[in-house]
Amino acid sequence: MRIVSLAGGIGGARFLRGLLTAVPDAEITVIGNTGDDITLFGLRVCPDLDTIMYTLGGGIDENQGWGRAKETHVVKEELAAYGMEPQWFGLGDRDFATHIVRTQMLNAGYPLSQVTEALCTRWQPGVRLLPMSDDRTETHVVVTDEHGRRAIHFQEWWVRMRASAPAEEIALIGAADAKPAPGVLEAIHGADLVILPPSNPVVSIGTILQIAGIRQALEAKVVVGVSPIIGGAPVRGMADACLAAVGVPATAQGVLELYGASLIDGWLVAEEDRDTRLDGVRVEVRPVLMSDPAATAALAQAALDLAGELAQ
Ligand code: GDP
Ligand code: CA
Repeated sequence: MRIVSLAGGIGGARFLRGLLTAVPDAEITVIGNTGDDITLFGLRVCPDLDTIMYTLGGGIDENQGWGRAKETHVVKEELAAYGMEPQWFGLGDRDFATHIVRTQMLNAGYPLSQVTEALCTRWQPGVRLLPMSDDRTETHVVVTDEHGRRAIHFQEWWVRMRASAPAEEIALIGAADAKPAPGVLEAIHGADLVILPPSNPVVSIGTILQIAGIRQALEAKVVVGVSPIIGGAPVRGMADACLAAVGVPATAQGVLELYGASLIDGWLVAEEDRDTRLDGVRVEVRPVLMSDPAATAALAQAALDLAGELAQ
C-alpha cells in the first residue's frame, strides 16, 4: 500500500507514528511543511521536518513534543552571554548539530530534499520524508504591536509573542515561485490513498497546499482528513489564532470547509462534532484524540479504513 501524508510538526508526527504502527509495511511518503523554517545564528532550522524525523526516529523529547530527548543548552546560554538575539527560540545542543549539518550541506549546494534524506539516514524514520519544496518559503504574519503594524516571521509571532497580538494576515513568502520538491508530485500520483493528519490547517497543511500543483494532484486522490479541532478548540497549541486570521471558525466544520469538498473525501471528527456536514464528504465520528500510542494507531487505522471504503 502506498500512502501519502502531509504533515506539520507535533500533530503530524504523532499521527504518523500511529500510522506506522497500524501499517508497518506500507510505503509512506510524508510531505513536510517548510513554511516554519527560519535562519538563526546563520543556521537553517526546519522545525517541522525535524519534529517528524526525531519523533519517528526515536530521538524526540516526548514531554515537549519537539526538540531532542536528553537535551542540554550550553550553546544557547553561551550565545545569550554574548547578548546574541534571538533568545526566545529554543535550540538545544543536540539540535544545533542537526542545523549545522543541514546548513553545511545547503551551503555546499545540496537541495533541502537531499539534505533531509541525508539527515534521515541517521534517524531511519520509516517513512520517506520530503520537504514540500526545495525553494525557500517562509510564513510571515502581519501584526500591530508597540512597534506599529508590521510583518514578522511566523516563529516570532508563535514562539516569542505566543500569538498574543491577533494575526491580521498570514502569508507564505516565496509561495508564488516555489515548486514542489522532487518526488512530491510523483508520490501523490502513485499513491493509493492520502491522509491528512490533524496538523495546523493554516500554517502546516494550508502552507503545503499553496505550493503549485500539490492541491490539484491531491484532488484526484481519495483524501481522508482528521480534524485538529475538537468541540470548538484546538487540542493543543493555538491553531484557533491562525484560523481567525483567515476568517475561519475554529470548528471541525470550519476546517472542513476551508479544505473544501474538492480536496476532502472523508473527514474524521470527535463525538462533539457529529453535526459536521459538507456535500460530497463522508463525515465519521471516531475518537480523534491521540491520547496514547494505542489510541493514535487506532485513529490512523480508522482513517485508512475510511479511505479504503471510499476508494471502492
Ligand atoms: P506543529 O507544527 O507542531 O504546530 O504541529 P502540527 O501542525 O502538525 O499540529 C498542530 C495541530 O495538531 C493543532 O491544531 C492541534 O489541534 C492538533 N492536535 C494535537 N494533538 C491532537 C490530537 O490528539 N488529536 C487531534 N485531533 N488533533 C490534535
Ligand atoms: Ca509547525
